[in-house]
Amino acid sequence: KPGENPQVSKEIMDAHLKVTGRRVITRFPPEPNGYLHIGHAKAINVNFGYAKTHNGTCNLRYDDTNPETEETQYIVSILEAIKWLGFEPDKIFYASDYFDQLFELAVRMIKRGLGYVCHCTPEEIYAQRGGESMGPRTECKHRNRPIEESLEEFYKMRDGRYAQGEAVLRMKMDLEDGNPQMWDLIAYRILYATHHRTGDKWCIYPTYDFAHCLCDSIENITHSLCTTEFTQSRKSYYWLCDAVEVYKPVQWEYGRLSVTNTVLSKRRLLKLLNEGIIPSLDDPRLFTLPALRRRGVPAAAINGFVRELGVTTAKTSIEVSRLENHIRDCLNSIAPRLMVVLDPIKIRITNYDKETDLQVPFNPRDASFGTHTIPFTSTLYIDRSDFRLEASADYSRLAPNKTVGLLYAPAPITCTDVVYAADGTISEILCKLEDGSDGNPPPKAKKYIQWVPHCPARGSPVKLGEVRLYNGLFKHSNPYDKTVVPGGWLSDINPESRQTITTAIAETGIFDLISKFISDPKTSQVFSKGNYEELRFQFLRMGYFCVDKDSEFSESFKNLSLKNSSDSYNQLPSECKLVLNRIVTLKDSLKK
Ligand code: ATP
Ligand code: MG
Ligand code: MG
Repeated sequence: KPGENPQVSKEIMDAHLKVTGRRVITRFPPEPNGYLHIGHAKAINVNFGYAKTHNGTCNLRYDDTNPETEETQYIVSILEAIKWLGFEPDKIFYASDYFDQLFELAVRMIKRGLGYVCHCTPEEIYAQRGGESMGPRTECKHRNRPIEESLEEFYKMRDGRYAQGEAVLRMKMDLEDGNPQMWDLIAYRILYATHHRTGDKWCIYPTYDFAHCLCDSIENITHSLCTTEFTQSRKSYYWLCDAVEVYKPVQWEYGRLSVTNTVLSKRRLLKLLNEGIIPSLDDPRLFTLPALRRRGVPAAAINGFVRELGVTTAKTSIEVSRLENHIRDCLNSIAPRLMVVLDPIKIRITNYDKETDLQVPFNPRDASFGTHTIPFTSTLYIDRSDFRLEASADYSRLAPNKTVGLLYAPAPITCTDVVYAADGTISEILCKLEDGSDGNPPPKAKKYIQWVPHCPARGSPVKLGEVRLYNGLFKHSNPYDKTVVPGGWLSDINPESRQTITTAIAETGIFDLISKFISDPKTSQVFSKGNYEELRFQFLRMGYFCVDKDSEFSESFKNLSLKNSSDSYNQLPSECKLVLNRIVTLKDSLKK
């Protein structure tokens, strides 16, 4: 009988190694009904990784057997995401390529007495399968109908002679088996739906249970790697290959991956979109691959993260912080450093009236990043959060009569006075430069803060259109847990998951980096495709940021690479709008 041999793995391994000439062939089989997410990144690494380690190949197969939910835009985005992660499918297939073959295999299954057309309602089938308690199973009256009759009925199904729901093709399996996957699964159902590739050619479509293993078989897949929800399906998988007498891959299971404080399932993501909670499925707070990419997360960080977790069978929900550590590790070596102030407050240094050019490295630990110029001016900006009217013992930033260091500046400053505007707000903070010029030993700074010069003649400060700070989209690590979130996952949205700041300013180094990115032949293509997210920075003491695709660059600025140096810009033109995403904060120890 099909599927009964307990040694089936070893035997079929030997058999398929004959078929494939000892070559490992895997496949990644997404359904094109949504964007891929971080869980899929594991599936991609498992399938492409396993093939690579064994000198084999990996196919991409769009599992497009459900015409009602599939969309062409997802076909494009899935391939893009795979390539973005650094993998290249050996071949690209569609399950729908095999509809003719699958139909013939269904006919063969019926002819071998292992399939029958059934006219029971879903409720009747449910009851036959033992109902809610999955108790004793009963045969339906169609189960033992003559082979010829089922064959005829199956053709009638194909020919559109039945309405939706009036007939299904079922596999004649083993109702005595303890495994529900052996209880006469449905192989084909009637669906009057237009398929994105086969149009209206078919009004019957194979189920996942029928199509998946046979597609694997058709492609000579050696290792059919899937997640552990399919452990029970292994038996039906083998049963069906045997039932239609085709080459049989080996199924291996691994654990599904999810991360905390988020949801991954396509159905739930669509709900978030339809409820207006997120504006798009690539919103940087999500963990779809397009969202992570847009957020500036390097592909290498995602691959490093899923590889570190390894291929275990455990179903795991991993703390977001573990992914964040990989992101920081990657960005630390690739992101140039800049000074940015989110909420500027003006400083005027009263004992200094020069303008001194500071040559500042973009990365103090790596000279290859180059340097940029920051004019040290008597008027400059610091962040409002680095100033307090009253200091306390544990506070070592700026306050009246307190000294603080300015990163890269020639000397620290001490606050000598505060000037108020008519409305009572602080208009500027007066400071003294502690350069020892008055003969007294200058006080030492305990802490160094970032700042941005006020020097309009040289384009400083650069106004940032928007800086978007992200936090977890959900308040709880597991929003599905009814014991902590009794109102259901949708009630757990974190109202502070996104904060938009419109007051931020940067030093002109940001302009140097953007124009270099646009004009460098290595990166200009990336930029012209709109993949701004590869422009990543570390804003000192704040975190890692990237340029969001909502940024606006004038055409002439985008064409910077085509210009000759004589008419190139020397500052960011005012018609450009920079939007930045915070990719990740710095480790706490680096913030101070
Ligand atoms: P979703 O429930 O999000 O729609 P799915 O399993 O239906 O996910 P598919 O497009 O069918 O998504 O997935 C393609 C492949 O990726 C399958 O082999 C599936 O097992 C695997 N996969 C999906 N989600 C995860 C996950 N969270 N972790 C690991 N692998 C996954
Ligand atoms: Mg699926
Ligand atoms: Mg799904």
